[in-house]
Amino acid sequence: MTLFLDHNQYYRLPWNLPDNAISWLEVTKACNLYCEGCYRENEPGGHKSLEDIKSDLAVFRKYRKTDGVSIAGGDPLVHPDIVEIVRLIAQEGLKPILNTNGHALTKELLRDLKKAGVVGFTFHVDSKQHRPGWKGKTEVELNELRLQYAQMLDEVGGLSCAFNSTVYADTLPYVPDILSWAQEHIDIVHVVVFIAIRAAVLDSFDYYAGAKKVDMSPIVYSTGEEGQRLDILSNDVVEVIRTRWPDFEPSAYLNGTEKVDSFKWLLTGRIGTKKSILGYVGPKFMELAQTWNHLRKGTYLAYTDPIVQRRAKSMLLLSPLDKGLRGVRKKFFGSVLRNPLNLFRRLHLQSVTIIQPADMLCDGSTSMCDGCPDITVHNGQLVWSCRLEEQLKFGCWIRAVPKGEAATGPCGSPCPPACAGGRD
Ligand code: SF4
Repeated sequence: MTLFLDHNQYYRLPWNLPDNAISWLEVTKACNLYCEGCYRENEPGGHKSLEDIKSDLAVFRKYRKTDGVSIAGGDPLVHPDIVEIVRLIAQEGLKPILNTNGHALTKELLRDLKKAGVVGFTFHVDSKQHRPGWKGKTEVELNELRLQYAQMLDEVGGLSCAFNSTVYADTLPYVPDILSWAQEHIDIVHVVVFIAIRAAVLDSFDYYAGAKKVDMSPIVYSTGEEGQRLDILSNDVVEVIRTRWPDFEPSAYLNGTEKVDSFKWLLTGRIGTKKSILGYVGPKFMELAQTWNHLRKGTYLAYTDPIVQRRAKSMLLLSPLDKGLRGVRKKFFGSVLRNPLNLFRRLHLQSVTIIQPADMLCDGSTSMCDGCPDITVHNGQLVWSCRLEEQLKFGCWIRAVPKGEAATGPCGSPCPPACAGGRD
């Protein structure tokens, strides 16, 4: 049975379509790796021109307040003008964050990107990437590569360091190992993101572009492997994490557009040292962080400055307002009583985000992230980046219609694997 998490106990992030913490800028379709589960068709040389990128930024400016811009692709580091792109975004007063597999990152490029104003990196590293020199390595073995990137950023200093991994049925058990590694490096790893694998389900549905039936199979995010599990929920990831940290407690979320109590983005802030986690921030802390940033800067908070994350002890001043912080304070002063030197220990804040992307429901509807942060631009409009291929190939969103035959789910339609996240 799926672990129950009560969304009413958590802070519903205030992110929405015109006012969000993040926006997603795709600068190229080219990539230097192949990753299973990638949402974008690799198109070598498919770089956007600087003019096109400027016009995408103008669309964001027109329609959407944003704090950070995730620069994505393809792999953005293979774009020949990546330094200039970062500079353009920084000049607009936005936080440029590079979403990359890291393969093309050199120390020299990193220094140039820092000078241009990059504020952080999210490295996609997982075992389903066909990465030269790392093929066949387990998630645990890949921690060595993760550490290389984290140390590269740390040498330059002042950059937010995040890692994301796509989670498959066979890699789900390794989630705690990645988190243990992240805790050991809590001083230089600021964010860890787990993204449940999703794909269009071909055998239970017909697909339509307008009134025309279409073949979805050429779309990169159509079902890959036979029998692949596509219904991993954020709850499942939390359940696995709790096998190692039983008190692991999220504090904020985004729900699904079709299912109010699903956790499409589930955020946890843990406070601790390299040796132990003292506790987890609560919903009030998350609310204060988002609201305070919006009051001060007019945008919801995206990536936190690493300087702030390593001053988690000062956050304990907010403990009268937040239950989670009160728990951390109690454990911290308990440790000080046992050893007064602990008073001088640095405490770090590390974020753990779990993403449960598009869920296909029994009736053919798709539950998207309500307040999607990864909105991108296509033809001058804001669109979901995870389903951009539909716009590119068919010029519209594709609708799924359940096939008539086959066993039925609770709503009377054939039940796809992801329906565990569906309406009931
Ligand atoms: S709707 Fe798609 S693009 Fe938007 S946050 Fe969810 S998974 Fe990402």
